[in-house]
Amino acid sequence: MESGTGLTSEQQCGCACSGAGSAAQQESSLRWSIAAIESLLDLPFADLIFQAQTLHRQYHDANGVQLSTLISVKTGGCSEDCAYCPQAARYHTGVENQAILSREEVVAAALQAKESGATRFCMGAAWRGPKQRDIEHMTGIISAVKELGMETCATLGILKPGQAAQLKQAGLDYYNHNLDTAPEFYGEIITTREYQDRLDTLEEVRSANINVCCGGIVGLGESRTARAGLIAQLANLDPYPESVPINYLVQVEGTPLHGTPELDPFEFVRTIAAARITMPKAMVRLSAGRRQMPEAIQALCFLAGANSIFYGDKLLTTGNPETESDLALFEKLGLHAL
Ligand code: SF4
Repeated sequence: MESGTGLTSEQQCGCACSGAGSAAQQESSLRWSIAAIESLLDLPFADLIFQAQTLHRQYHDANGVQLSTLISVKTGGCSEDCAYCPQAARYHTGVENQAILSREEVVAAALQAKESGATRFCMGAAWRGPKQRDIEHMTGIISAVKELGMETCATLGILKPGQAAQLKQAGLDYYNHNLDTAPEFYGEIITTREYQDRLDTLEEVRSANINVCCGGIVGLGESRTARAGLIAQLANLDPYPESVPINYLVQVEGTPLHGTPELDPFEFVRTIAAARITMPKAMVRLSAGRRQMPEAIQALCFLAGANSIFYGDKLLTTGNPETESDLALFEKLGLHAL
């Protein structure tokens, strides 16, 4: 049972699923069992969306979507082996390595993002984790972006003890560190680090009082049970993340996952809905893969509870829909920027 929601477990997962979710939940001491989340994913589509939309309206501005901009501050040449990632040095994907950007370059990009309407600025670096000199460089950048009045988020990989506290002191609002997939499937996707490494970094971030941005990727070739397993991991973090990016695999030639059978987009929408129902207060972010989605699928994602998109610029190394077409979609759907 999620604390502070004012809902009973029946209301959270059982109202339209004949009690299947709530019964399964009781099997486990976890707040959300994998079986309960699978029961949600198995619901008739309209029932699932209705539950998600009902909770969404209870906790969020129903027609508000936050605009975030993501910049890659250091691109390519990463030592890790994430099977989906074009920035891993071991895959030949055509991504050009780029040294870390200067403070001036990042601040100029942040200013441009702000002028285009973004309120959140996310900074990503391709490496296993930052060295101390990288942390010193990033803290200077974070302070400068924060001074522009933007919400700041960084995704810098595995943090060593004490590094999160330095980022917090610089004014970092959110740290992104995705769990990617369910623990049972993780070894199929990444072998250069353990699931526990991810959880340890999330713990560091929490201890430093930085908001947690943590989600995953679907379409990796995982089963529905594995998607439920990912959502269960996220929802059972205590507290659950304030920000939950759900990515749809962008298949890049040269990566091991290129050629993976495409996931049905409705399954992606279902995953968004499950994230909204199990983590009702979180910002659920429609992240990588949006460019490939027809507008109608994006609209379903908003209906399922997504309330943030990456806007303008580039989503690390893969493109993002043009700013103008995003604004046109907002107009068609009567959405406004948060
Ligand atoms: S996802 Fe991050 S850690 Fe993994 S290979 Fe890409 S840049 Fe490196």
